[in-house]
Amino acid sequence: MRIDILTVLPELLKSPFEASILKRAIDAGQVEVHLHNLRDYSDKPHKQVDDYQFGGGAGMVLMIEPIEKCILQLQSERSYDQVIYMTPDGERFNQQLANRLSMCENILLLCGHYKGVDQRIRDHYITHEISIGDYVLSGGELPAAVVSDAIIRLIPGVLNNETSALTDSFQDGLLAPPVYTRPAAYKGWKVPEILISGNLPEIEKWRDEQAYQHTKERRPDLLREEEI
Ligand code: SAH
Repeated sequence: MRIDILTVLPELLKSPFEASILKRAIDAGQVEVHLHNLRDYSDKPHKQVDDYQFGGGAGMVLMIEPIEKCILQLQSERSYDQVIYMTPDGERFNQQLANRLSMCENILLLCGHYKGVDQRIRDHYITHEISIGDYVLSGGELPAAVVSDAIIRLIPGVLNNETSALTDSFQDGLLAPPVYTRPAAYKGWKVPEILISGNLPEIEKWRDEQAYQHTKERRPDLLREEEI
């Protein structure tokens, strides 16, 4: 899989891909992540990429030309399953959407800044719009990092144990059960007995029950009505 991220602030996006699971996936060639600085595609003096909005009002808008030039350049090199704009008014990101996107070959993520991007880019080049939640951030870089992280860890082979993504919250419609590690007792706080029993089927059963109870308490909306 290949992810191309278009941004005016590539430095904001470097470190998430330089550590831990994402770095390992990139080093192992399971995913390629390419950052593109939109300023490199500006023909204006001083590499200008934004301008005042028509109609007046506070806040700059990213201009069409550098974004279009960058998208066209990339599209001339390969075809993209999705050209995605990160925006608060997009489809709300969730695990299902992450699953769908993890099956793509090539995706392009466009990060807005200031007031956003010229609407005509959205009308003519964007195939999908994604929001990471009902709040407004300064730029699309952190949302693009969030979406990339969620997708990359789902690519087969990226997580050491293939099943570990399957046991995470939301993957099976439930929240994850609690987890413990050594020491088995700390300040008198004990790990549930069952987890050190070695009885794998019983442990599995306990985890399923815990996941269900936890979901019922915190996110009953995730359970279908007849299951509650
Ligand atoms: N004027 C816009 C917000 C612009 S915020 C509005 O009111 O909808 C600047 C940029 O940050 C956006 O172009 C978008 O790329 C990004 N952004 C901000 N919040 C976001 C969110 N919740 N999800 C995805 N992208 C977001």
